[in-house]
Amino acid sequence: MAEDIDSRFRSPEAYELARLALEQLESQRVWPTPVNYELWSHVIAEPNGPLARELERIMVSGEPITDDLAEHLASTYLPKGRLSEQIRDTGQALSRELATAEQAIRSAHETSETFSTRLEETSRTLKKDPSSSALQGVVANLTDATREMQAQNASVERALAASTSEVAMLREQLEEIRKEAATDPLTRLANRRAFDERIEQARAEADTKGDFFCLVLLDIDHFKKFNDTWGHQTGDQVLRYVASVIRKRVLPPRFAARFGGEEFAIILPGDSLFDASPLVNSILKDVSASSIRRRSTNDNLGIITLSAGIAGFRAGDTVHDLIERADSSLYKAKRRGRNRLVVEGDA
Ligand code: GH3
Ligand code: MG
Ligand code: MG
Repeated sequence: MAEDIDSRFRSPEAYELARLALEQLESQRVWPTPVNYELWSHVIAEPNGPLARELERIMVSGEPITDDLAEHLASTYLPKGRLSEQIRDTGQALSRELATAEQAIRSAHETSETFSTRLEETSRTLKKDPSSSALQGVVANLTDATREMQAQNASVERALAASTSEVAMLREQLEEIRKEAATDPLTRLANRRAFDERIEQARAEADTKGDFFCLVLLDIDHFKKFNDTWGHQTGDQVLRYVASVIRKRVLPPRFAARFGGEEFAIILPGDSLFDASPLVNSILKDVSASSIRRRSTNDNLGIITLSAGIAGFRAGDTVHDLIERADSSLYKAKRRGRNRLVVEGDA
């Protein structure tokens, strides 16, 4: 999708799109910062997309587009292009470094071949004429060759050392990008992509080794109303707060992620439904233990509650089956009055 939009911005209609984006920024009284321009360009190119809908909602609510909000929207709705650019840059740097190292190794190899050719020549000369004058020539020749070889080796070593440290740095950068690609920028929990990978891995292990595991889905109660009352940014603060409670309670090998908007998921490898319930109840209790305050104004925002549903893996389950059962338990928790946990199979 991002590629399509990119290519439209390199087509004959590009100036028209750019003009429209600027026009909208101006008419909606939003500063034409690079991020805002990027956001609005995407809205122009894809007027019915999820970003357009979200911006529409924000504009209707009258909430100002601050730098923080714009960054948040960009990282939520335009994440792939930005990340893949970083990956591409790091990848290119890495392959340049590897090419340099390869060249250094090749030239070291050539030098040692030259050296061994000269050794062979010398040994032939000595066999033909073992006199002392010939010997002197041979020694001088070998001394030269050795010196050349040493100089060459030193320069190869320097090149390799520089490449090695450059490659180590790039590896760290790649690791950083890899982590970033698996992390939800708002809550710093694992994101949906990381969750999908982890649950598939748990399912595969359960299938092959017969291990058991549970899935919990949690959803903030009446969050839409909260956003409507206090604004999107305060809503974001709540998402971070809930995530911090979950993070404290969920330690490896258990795995917590932001599943979607105001929903979280926890994978509990090796835990039965019976083991998992107290953990989930303690999260629900922690979150609702005290009313929270808006950071900027100290307004009392009241008590936040969560509803949760748990399901346990059954032989032959697909990930989809398991999520569906956890979701239907969550739905029951909502219907039964929210701020509670429903375990699958509960009457
Ligand atoms: P329920 O108790 O039934 O779950 O009601 P609800 O209002 O929480 O559920 P609904 O699905 O109607 O609304 C979810 C809301 O979550 C709507 C959306 O604006 C909000 N939301 C989703 N993602 C974000 C986000 O990243 N930040 C903020 N502030 N709000 C978000
Ligand atoms: Mg929801
Ligand atoms: Mg909700």
